[in-house]
Amino acid sequence: MRRISVFGATGSIGANTFDLMMRAGGPAAFHTVALTGDRNIARLAEMARALRAEVAVTADETLLPALRAALAGSGIAAAAGKAGLAEAAARPADWVMSAIVGAAGLMPGLIALQHGATLALANKESLVCAGPLLLATAAQHKARILPVDSEHSAIFQCLAGEDSAAVERIILTASGGALRDWPLEKLAHATVDQALAHPNWEMGKRITIDSASMFNKALEVIETREFFGVAPEQIEVVIHPESLIHSMVGFRDGAIMAHLGAHDMRHSIGYALNWPARAALPVDRLDFSKLAQLTFRAPDLDRYPALRLCRAVMATHGVAGAVFNAAKEVALDHFIAGQIGFMDMSGVVEDTLSLVSSDLSLGKAAMTLEEVMAADHLARVRAHAAAGIRHSRRE
Ligand code: NAD
Ligand code: MG
Repeated sequence: MRRISVFGATGSIGANTFDLMMRAGGPAAFHTVALTGDRNIARLAEMARALRAEVAVTADETLLPALRAALAGSGIAAAAGKAGLAEAAARPADWVMSAIVGAAGLMPGLIALQHGATLALANKESLVCAGPLLLATAAQHKARILPVDSEHSAIFQCLAGEDSAAVERIILTASGGALRDWPLEKLAHATVDQALAHPNWEMGKRITIDSASMFNKALEVIETREFFGVAPEQIEVVIHPESLIHSMVGFRDGAIMAHLGAHDMRHSIGYALNWPARAALPVDRLDFSKLAQLTFRAPDLDRYPALRLCRAVMATHGVAGAVFNAAKEVALDHFIAGQIGFMDMSGVVEDTLSLVSSDLSLGKAAMTLEEVMAADHLARVRAHAAAGIRHSRRE
């Protein structure tokens, strides 16, 4: 029986993964090794009982007694904190879902690869912060990384059986997020609730706001570069409001392969879960007789400065990705807390990249987790300061 772990089981990707596992037979179909969450103890315990996991882990150490109580009598072990996550990631598993949000997802993913597991990667931040380290670790341990981000799953499927040398360009589609039709001058005043009103689907809070600012797409551009080994100039972004084409690959003979389907993350999660086979999945089928139109437009870089910043990050490469991601996470925290405006987020990230460049060489690649986390930590300190300046200017 296949041994499976899900990191970030209580989140949006985690819930969809759990749904597919239960539909496939739950504990009769999989041996569940570890499930992890953060503060949602009741849900974590419920999932662990349903899948008869070996261990459930909460990232919050103060909640370990609550998790133990929720698992009482089940025989499922409880653990907590970074040490608990690391221990769970080191348990032998065949397939590991990496669906923690943010840079916190890097450590368990790296450990799973060191133990030879196939890593289904939803946590794009891992590749942005530490692409070369993650890929080298996978190669060293003959472990495989499968994309779960819908765009990257689409690209991966378009590339199946193709010669990578024949790839001319990769075209990432973007919904444009909640504020895509707002006038540019109003964007500075957008609230958290307005940024959370995603036009096409529901996801975790952080990625939903990142969709509105297109920081999510900026991360995905870097993710594409790392995952598929293409040059930055081969990656394009196009806004496609209907979100039915999940991404495209253009080949040197002029052909373009597009991946279409309903927008339901269970497609890309299910593809990674069943790869290299295709299993029946409970996703809606497209009815072309009812599809009115597919539309496209180029993103405006004044509206989405994140798309400009990610180009500078790719040109620098090295730890610039870790700095970019950490600064983005801090800026997002400050926006969610109401301290800085929507457009200040890209300002904070830009300030942080320039502040950190005087402390360390952004172009030097980090090849250990410690080096990545040191750059992440420094960027967080600088980003807090940059956000504080913008906050005080608003008052
Ligand atoms: P979410 O906020 O719904 O869930 C995040 C999960 O991570 C939860 O289980 C939470 O308990 C856990 N978590 C949060 N902080 C943690 C920490 N510090 N340490 C350990 N665990 C922690 O997020 P999501 O929308 O499911 O996204 C998860 C990842 O998948 C992100 O990297 C996101 O970019 C990516 N992704 C999500 C979607 C989507 O449709 N939701 C699509 C593509 C990619
Ligand atoms: Mg995506």
